[in-house]
Amino acid sequence: MQYHSTNRQVPPATFEQAVIDGLAKDKGLFMPESVPALPAAFFADLPSLSLGDIARKVARLFIEDEIPEAVLGQLAEEALNFPIPLVSLAPQLHVLELFHGPTLAFKDVGARFMSRVMAHFLRGVDKKVYVLVATSGDTGSAVAQGFYNVPGIEVIILYPSGKVSRVQEAQFATLGNNVTALEIEGTFDDCQRLVKTAFADAALREELYLTSANSINFARLLPQSFYYFYAYGQLAAKITNPEVVFSVPSGNYGNLTAGLLAEKMGLPATAFLAASNANDTVPEYLTTRTFRPRPSVATLSNAMDVGDPSNFARMQRLFGDSWEDMQKRIRGYSYTDAQTAQAIREVYDTYGYLIDPHGAVGYLAATDYRKTHRDAHLVVLATAHPAKFADAVQSATGQVPPVPPQLGNCLHREKLSLPLANDYLPLKNFLLQRSLMVH
Ligand SMILES: *Cc1c(COP(=O)(O)O)cnc(C)c1O
Repeated sequence: MQYHSTNRQVPPATFEQAVIDGLAKDKGLFMPESVPALPAAFFADLPSLSLGDIARKVARLFIEDEIPEAVLGQLAEEALNFPIPLVSLAPQLHVLELFHGPTLAFKDVGARFMSRVMAHFLRGVDKKVYVLVATSGDTGSAVAQGFYNVPGIEVIILYPSGKVSRVQEAQFATLGNNVTALEIEGTFDDCQRLVKTAFADAALREELYLTSANSINFARLLPQSFYYFYAYGQLAAKITNPEVVFSVPSGNYGNLTAGLLAEKMGLPATAFLAASNANDTVPEYLTTRTFRPRPSVATLSNAMDVGDPSNFARMQRLFGDSWEDMQKRIRGYSYTDAQTAQAIREVYDTYGYLIDPHGAVGYLAATDYRKTHRDAHLVVLATAHPAKFADAVQSATGQVPPVPPQLGNCLHREKLSLPLANDYLPLKNFLLQRSLMVH
């Protein structure tokens, strides 16, 4: 399988090159040249397949012989070592709980899989790879936990001082070993600019091997398609040919793009709902045909505060750049913080279920879709554990979500971040020094 950049200015890459580089040299995103179809037997067996079975069969189509069978199987088992249950709130309303991993958000699925794929490709290579990432909170914790103690990899996380939650900071700044957290005197945008400057610094890149771990990496996208099949299989085990609609709380649209990829492989989904907060660039495009990227605005569902979604280019590619085709398959929705808080309350009052603000946005879209589609089975992707957004959940419901053990442990560890000025030179010097130390 060859991987093409969405900007089409560079030659195609192998899966390995696409994963190690992350972003193509022409700044495009890697996509498989074509999306392979799964055989009919896969769908016939789906109701009885485990998540690990699905992972192996789906990943094989994209990775082919670049990773041996046994290695891929083990890698997938290790990456997905937590449950992804489909919880039914009502006969036709289901929540896919993607938040049982170490950082209590769905990003664990992609980060854990990608880190193990990278480690495999770097085995025996006498060279460290530096994963450099700017975070406003969630990405940093998933990447740090995903790559923690993975051989051959040094993780450097830049985060804005005082602007991430205490829990998020504890998840990436207390690990040590191969994970370094740099606390920047500035905003998230400053952190992102510093990272981009480093990636554009050819002299630095001759000294050390830099790669990116945000949602543009294809190895993060691929595993997110597994759970769409898994959820469908669980419904198909009970109902023949269920009409399944996925409601996806969206920011950079990696999660939704993974669903579209699953559909291209043959998943018989009825529709996808792009559930967004006030950052409604994609829903607006779906109704007006105009793509108008803009600065993000802060909301209650802050992991979805993205004004210029990076995976949009992939979505366009999947629909052959046709707006008509995209808006036939995806419906866009956008909600205010007041509606989100009201939805958290409603889900608790109606079903006795605590949902986080991101999942609540997905619930709202599902509820609106339901008004005109009585027969559909709605699957809301719950992307974060309610304990991760305890304040919002408590103020809406009066309930304090129980804290799972994954979260409790890191809260007591010592913070190990290094403070750094908001300037490129200190970052560059730090990276060069670090590369001398670890070699
Ligand atoms: C990152 C994130 C999202 C948005 O996912 P995308 O793939 O960027 O659309 C939604 N919810 C939570 C909790 C997240 O951390």
